[in-house]
Amino acid sequence: MILAALDVTALPSDTLLGEGRYRLETEIGRGGYGITYSARRTGSGDLVAIKECVFAGCERDQGKIVCADEDSAKFLEAWGERTLAQAERLRAVSHPHLARVFEAWRENNTVYVAMEWLEGPTLRQHLEEQGPLGMEEALKCAGELAGALAALHEHDLVHLDVKPENAVLTERGAVLLDFDLVQPCGEGDVSTRPLSLAGRIGTPGYAPPESYGERAPQGAASDVYSLGATLYFLLGATTPPSAVDRAAGIELQRLAIAPHLHDALEAALRLPIDARPISMRAFQKMWVPPPPPAVIDDDFAFSAHQANLAQSQLATGVYRVVLTHSEAEFPPRCVCCFEKADRDADILVKSPSGKRYVPGCQLCLRHQSISRASSAGTGWGVGLSVPIVSVGTFLCVTSDSILQLGMGLLLCLLALFVFFASINYGALKSSRAEEMLKSSCCHPLEPVTYSFNGRVYIWRFKNVLYAEEFKRKNAPFVV
Ligand SMILES: [Zn+2]
Ligand SMILES: [Zn+2]
Repeated sequence: MILAALDVTALPSDTLLGEGRYRLETEIGRGGYGITYSARRTGSGDLVAIKECVFAGCERDQGKIVCADEDSAKFLEAWGERTLAQAERLRAVSHPHLARVFEAWRENNTVYVAMEWLEGPTLRQHLEEQGPLGMEEALKCAGELAGALAALHEHDLVHLDVKPENAVLTERGAVLLDFDLVQPCGEGDVSTRPLSLAGRIGTPGYAPPESYGERAPQGAASDVYSLGATLYFLLGATTPPSAVDRAAGIELQRLAIAPHLHDALEAALRLPIDARPISMRAFQKMWVPPPPPAVIDDDFAFSAHQANLAQSQLATGVYRVVLTHSEAEFPPRCVCCFEKADRDADILVKSPSGKRYVPGCQLCLRHQSISRASSAGTGWGVGLSVPIVSVGTFLCVTSDSILQLGMGLLLCLLALFVFFASINYGALKSSRAEEMLKSSCCHPLEPVTYSFNGRVYIWRFKNVLYAEEFKRKNAPFVV
């Protein structure tokens, strides 16, 4: 059955429904599966939403729904039965982030469902006004929807139409609604849709590939796909390409989000249903950022275990963190030893793209400056001894007097002295610097380097603990 535009006239306001329990106010929306009205309970005056099952091909005759042909009549009958049964099951599910279903009944030759009235914009409307959500807000919304979906799954129901239009931002957070496509899922968390529903899909971009088929099994992992697509939208303000396009090779555009979050979305949006996280909980677990390897105590204690970890990992090299943002946020620790940073002990990082300062501690600042002096002293000494020895040798070779020979020899001796003195100076200084190194220090001279390649900002740390903490702090900008 192809969905055509629904042109059935709406019921007039003040129509009484449900044996006088509800008084209709106005039509608030229509989709392929029916018309939604706002209404009030005649007793309390409370607002509710009432959905009337009606399809293209139906007409209204003095309130009643009549079908143009026998096929449509059969379909309306079957759909009505299904809606009654589904409403009965949904009444049993109670979750703060799921719209409440109050009751369903037959009337006017069709079926009506009374549901909770939700005040607020849909997630799509909210984003269209405000732009993409921050990571925390997006995860909060997605977490609320995941809770609602998990509640449905516990009752062996799958929603199959999760998308930004079907969640409303209310005072109590995001609330999932629209249960038109809700299906029972039997054993093994997998359902096959009734034949009459074949071809009814959700929304491209949000519907998993199995929704497009007629017999492909659907299950909790189908909602994982749609929630993944919804979270993708919340973070990037863009709808992912449809499952069909993706199967044809259109790639999912990478969002500028933390790597673990990217991995979670990538897993939820896998095309084969059995490759996705199996449940809402499994999906949600992937959002949690990986724990930093160091325990961030308030007293900045550095346990032996952590020191060993640092030591063993320090040997393995340089930890690169690539950012899309120049203003990095630094953990309040020393970039060399990872102990508490001292005030006024910032470590200078020189790069062709400018000077940067990274927090350090007094001791590390000193071993750095002494190491620098050591290599500079050695360099100067060795550099100086070369011209002296050249002049000395020249004088000796071209000597035509004892005086010139003596001068030449003296210069050679001087060069030798300068050479060994500078080597000695360097060795002394570097042993001084080494004395200052703590077991947790990562490099006597260069614990951190920085560069900018015209596109991204590249930080290289020698201390893995610092690199991990830095990564965590700058998560939204880490590539
Ligand atoms: Zn330090
Ligand atoms: Zn140090």
